[in-house]
Amino acid sequence: MKSQDIRNTFLNFFEEKKHSIVPSAPMVLKDDPTLMFVNSGMAPFKEFFLGNAQPKNNRLADTQKCLRVSGKHNDLEEVGYDTYHHTLFEMLGNWSFGDYFKKEAIAWAWELLTEKFEIDKDILYVTVFEGSNDDDKLPMDQEAYDFWKALIPEDRILMGNKKDNFWEMGDQGPCGPCSEIHVDIRSAEEKAKVDGKTLVNMDHPQVVEIWNLVFMQYNRKANGSLENLPDKHIDTGMGFERLCMVLQGVQSNYDTDVFTPIIREIETITDKDYGKNEKVDVAIRVISDHVRAVAFSIADGQLPSNTGAGYVIRRILRRAVRYGFTFLDKKEPFIYRLVDVLVNKMGKAFPELKEQRQLIENVIKEEENSFLRTLDQGLLLLDRIITHSNSKEISGNKVFELKDTYGFPEDLTDLILRENGFTYNHDQFNKKLKEQQERGKKASQLKSDDWTVLIDDEEQEFIGYDTLEAQVKITKYRKVTSKKDGEQYQLVFNITPFYAEGGGQVGDKGYLEDAHGDVVYIIDTKRENNVVIHFAKNLPKHINDTLKASVDTKQRYRTECNHTATHLLHQALREVLGTHVEQKGSAVHSKYLRFDFSHFSKLTVEELRDVESFVNRRIEGKLPLKEQRNIPMQKAIDEGAMALFGEKYGDTVRTVRFGQSIELCGGTHVKNTGDIWHFKIVSESAVAAGIRRIEAITSDAVKDFYFENNRAYFEMKDLLNNAKEPVKALQSLQDENTSLKKQVDTLLKEKAKSIKGDLKSELSEVNGVKFLAKKLDLDAAGIKDVCFELGSQFDDLFLLFGAEHNGKAILSCYISKELVASKDLNAGTIVRELGKYIQGGGGGQPFFATAGGKHPNGIDEALNVAIDYIK
Ligand code: ATP
Ligand code: MG
Repeated sequence: MKSQDIRNTFLNFFEEKKHSIVPSAPMVLKDDPTLMFVNSGMAPFKEFFLGNAQPKNNRLADTQKCLRVSGKHNDLEEVGYDTYHHTLFEMLGNWSFGDYFKKEAIAWAWELLTEKFEIDKDILYVTVFEGSNDDDKLPMDQEAYDFWKALIPEDRILMGNKKDNFWEMGDQGPCGPCSEIHVDIRSAEEKAKVDGKTLVNMDHPQVVEIWNLVFMQYNRKANGSLENLPDKHIDTGMGFERLCMVLQGVQSNYDTDVFTPIIREIETITDKDYGKNEKVDVAIRVISDHVRAVAFSIADGQLPSNTGAGYVIRRILRRAVRYGFTFLDKKEPFIYRLVDVLVNKMGKAFPELKEQRQLIENVIKEEENSFLRTLDQGLLLLDRIITHSNSKEISGNKVFELKDTYGFPEDLTDLILRENGFTYNHDQFNKKLKEQQERGKKASQLKSDDWTVLIDDEEQEFIGYDTLEAQVKITKYRKVTSKKDGEQYQLVFNITPFYAEGGGQVGDKGYLEDAHGDVVYIIDTKRENNVVIHFAKNLPKHINDTLKASVDTKQRYRTECNHTATHLLHQALREVLGTHVEQKGSAVHSKYLRFDFSHFSKLTVEELRDVESFVNRRIEGKLPLKEQRNIPMQKAIDEGAMALFGEKYGDTVRTVRFGQSIELCGGTHVKNTGDIWHFKIVSESAVAAGIRRIEAITSDAVKDFYFENNRAYFEMKDLLNNAKEPVKALQSLQDENTSLKKQVDTLLKEKAKSIKGDLKSELSEVNGVKFLAKKLDLDAAGIKDVCFELGSQFDDLFLLFGAEHNGKAILSCYISKELVASKDLNAGTIVRELGKYIQGGGGGQPFFATAGGKHPNGIDEALNVAIDYIK
């Protein structure tokens, strides 16, 4: 069965069982502070399990893109070495929210595997939670056991411990026992030798878990205790690629048709064969896996970058480049060339891949290029370290610096050092690495108390589209502590006018006030699993009272101007540049807006002007806001709203329209474009290959901008003696400056020439060396000139020159190459040592080196001791 059909069979099976099929959610999570990427099918449904939102149907089924490369589930280092863990994989799942429970979940899983997919019952094992004797004192899952017993011989039902068979969402929240289904796909001889039962959960590559059925029946409270959930839920996850391996009768996920087309392409491009050499095979598996993870992330709007989720993606891609570089001898970009095959294979099930193909290729190619340059540079640095080292063991600090500052990976350093007969101090390296990780951990560590619930079961309502002030009650609160922000309180209200950070727009600020006039400031507002959380430095005194909640109106107004302008800008770009322009990210602050979009060249001055005036015409046109709340997604699309890749939409959406521009948007906007007053682009730049960024300002910020520019203009004019045409005046100043610089240069060169003649006569003979240490009135280039000029006339020179230039000290040392060898002298070492006299440092080559420092008074002393080096 082809993988495409396997996926469809799964979905159709559950559709027949009254499940609604939903598309995979984007992989990058936006409103879950505990998780960066979706790492299981359950993550996008968290808000349903927590009771913060209602699904459209209490039975759903899907295939979810998952990424296990950070946090609790991190399989990255396994990938390539084993045959059944991936970074990105699809998790097939069926879901019950307070509907069916263990009986149906177990029966249907069995029916699907053994009847629909016709998997031989004799290769399947299932596990059941055995109970626990710890504080929880949980009973064995007898219910599940009994349901399984009706389907499978008892000797194939295995007991599992809490680690494998009890699932928890996190420290708090829904949890429950689970049953896993394992397959044994070994050959008959192997099976005869070792009983499959003993290999379950033992990391055997052919006895693997394929499906996990989780029975959510408890809620873990903050104090660690468990209570029964009022509504019980089913959460199942089956690894799609592993299922394909079983159904296609192969022994490795990489031998399924999910991967073989990519692997064939890698073989063609690199002229290597898969299956002949273990190192090559690992590299091929790594690359075929990683290209998927990176391509899907880019399609979801997550570009490689230096921070957060973007950094994780960059590291995955770099791991692939490294394996290609080291084991497949690929020193030029090639991974981007695999995108084509991937899109052909997966584009149907995941249309975002197809639509973004060009962008994905460009971004990957650019990343490959830049990392290959890094590798080149690192190789040079490493080469230098090797040639200059006087021990066969390199310091671990140096290796760490290579990794940390230059992005040069440790394993590659290790390999190259070993090839050259060197090693490095691993303890030192690991210590440095650990220190760095600890620092990172500490900065991000967040400790949160349990929620104190004041009013139970209140559904929260957001009223901030219509009003900025409301009488509210606090329904629950908790204290959170982090290194970065210190102690903060998180407050949840029954209703709130505060907009929570989302869709690029910053969260509202404002305050709470009680009847006695006591005020608590709200410093930020964020959304967590569909609940609006207000952040405050302290708790209101009268926490049970009704409080007046007021949003900071000025900040909100400025933010709204920028948000509406962002929509107009998007429209303007599509109008001026073409419909290939797609939003790739946006940040809407009160002071400015930032908009990233796909486009392949720098915008010309004319284009920028056209974009700006397009927006300003619509501001002058005073277009009213027309919004629709809670309309079906399809209706919004039919009306012309565009859904963004990587954005998660509900079944009903809100649309925002100004004139022709209609967008799906949950943000807040001005009531009329006229409120924005004016729009001004302040910068246009590149973010990545094929992605441009515009930063712009509106309303008050534009006034400030013009005011500041005007002031600067008049100051400049003043400095130019009130010239009538300041630009011309400045130009002539610059011209004059250039010609003066040239004259100075010529003068200095002439001076150097005449000095050289004098210096020759000043050389003295010390120990068979022609020696001179002297202060010169020249700049660094002039001194170098003198050294090389004299150097060309003698082969037994030792020169040390000092100079003072713009209040800084320079020391330059020149030693004839013959002396470097015969007397074991090194100009680099010498200037570094003498650098201490001028409070500075430097380096260079053994025959010529320069140091700079901030203490010119030390020059004479340095010159005085120079003679010691040849004595
Ligand atoms: P394993 O012990 O094999 O790592 P797991 O216990 O981490 O699996 P779950 O978290 O229960 O797996 O995920 C549900 C299913 O998803 C698994 O049964 C398996 O089929 C699949 N799966 C889990 N991790 C991966 C991965 N890294 N690559 C591919 N499939 C995976
Ligand atoms: Mg795992």
